[in-house]
Amino acid sequence: MGFKEEGQAVVSILNKYYEDSIKRKKNVLDQKPLRDIVLNLKLAQLCEAGGLEGKALEEFFTSYLEYTNHLHHPGYMGHQVAVPAHTGSFGSFVDGFTNNAMAVYEMGPAAAAVEYFMINYLLAKIGWETMPYDLSQWARYPHSGGIFTHGGSLANLTAFIAARNMVQEDVWTEGNRQSLAALVSPSCHYSVTRAAGIVGIGEKNLCFLETDEYQRILPEKLPGALEKMKKEGKNPFILVGSACGTALGLYDDLSFLGDFCKSEGIPFHVDGAHGTSVLFSSKYKHLVDGIEKADTITWDAHKMLRTPTLCAALLTKDSRSLLKAFKQKGSYIFHEKEQPGIDFIHQTVECTKAGLGLKFFTSLAGLGDQGMSDYLDRTYDLSRQAYHYVNTLDDFETVIEPESNIFVFRLKGPDPLQLEIRKKLLREGDFYITTTEFNGKWYLRTVFMNPDTTIDDFIRLIDQVRRFRK
Ligand SMILES: *Cc1c(COP(=O)(O)O)cnc(C)c1O
Repeated sequence: MGFKEEGQAVVSILNKYYEDSIKRKKNVLDQKPLRDIVLNLKLAQLCEAGGLEGKALEEFFTSYLEYTNHLHHPGYMGHQVAVPAHTGSFGSFVDGFTNNAMAVYEMGPAAAAVEYFMINYLLAKIGWETMPYDLSQWARYPHSGGIFTHGGSLANLTAFIAARNMVQEDVWTEGNRQSLAALVSPSCHYSVTRAAGIVGIGEKNLCFLETDEYQRILPEKLPGALEKMKKEGKNPFILVGSACGTALGLYDDLSFLGDFCKSEGIPFHVDGAHGTSVLFSSKYKHLVDGIEKADTITWDAHKMLRTPTLCAALLTKDSRSLLKAFKQKGSYIFHEKEQPGIDFIHQTVECTKAGLGLKFFTSLAGLGDQGMSDYLDRTYDLSRQAYHYVNTLDDFETVIEPESNIFVFRLKGPDPLQLEIRKKLLREGDFYITTTEFNGKWYLRTVFMNPDTTIDDFIRLIDQVRRFRK
């Protein structure tokens, strides 16, 4: 057999996997011990002897798939990872095959052009000025910009690098000369506080803002926090708002935060890894009203835009922010050489970079803009339906009506019970959910990522959870 036949065989195996998953014929997750997986997949023999072809190839992938977390199963209500559009996985496959490291234009003109276009697509959703296709205009004309990164964590780090440069232009050569400090929510994603550590701000210079009982930044407390920080001799270089938070999936008041940052001259970053995608939905885009006031935005396509991992964007209101932030060669001149495209390499932490734009494009173009919008509406609607359903039941507690597709609830009873429930559900295999700690209590957490999950699946989940009533 050769590439073509083996490729077709792999597609057939994946097709069966998909059918079994959506028909719930397999457990969502059948977690085997690591050692067993290594042995059963015969990894050592195959590495040693080679011959991963024909029957061996088919056997390998068939067993490999047995040990996966089946995201296409409608009982998958777990982590915030996309159930990819199948066209998106073709993007991953073709990118893996062609392996065009597109951060340098001539290493991947098609991939670079697709990335450029898809960044523009997102910029237009925000309402920012897109990048010109006449590249001679790039440096002359004010517009927005951005880069795809391998994940939102790296996008957040990139935002910190850009913001630091906005308040201290010579930071690249001189290091941090002032006592820089970041204004963040205590419930911000850990990649945000980690970014502060990486850029050398120091954990003690993270200023945790006051929030309401649901972990949303309290706008009226901001002036006081800023004053206190300045009295301590600290210079704020970034304020981070969430769209949306990880635990409860609630959105900060971006419009207020944007106005505040503007009046105080503080760069405003929106960590919208999960929830900026509502810009595709006319029904829910009001949740990010004011997002255009940001200086930088993190936006993951591999969460709510049906795109295979990894594909995240860091978008900047001013296209020059990234070039200025990475001025390693003492120059951020755009056209260093005569060429028909651009080298993204000057705007990113990464060197060799995959064709992330292609995965995103093939996912979006498979569904179309309206299809993506419908998907978002469906998943965001579903969490509200689930909330209203759970509220009719006496033996359950909820926290707040969900804003996104993230919904937390608990069976009345002690904390260890919630953890026990999750463990048992996972072992039984019909569902995959997570837990979260909120205000000192443990909750069950569902994230509706799968386009095939319905309210009936959720009701079946609740019926299963109910069996654990004490
Ligand atoms: C998922 C998430 C991140 C991290 O993004 P990765 O793509 O997982 O690196 C950061 N912030 C928020 C709010 C998130 O939801």
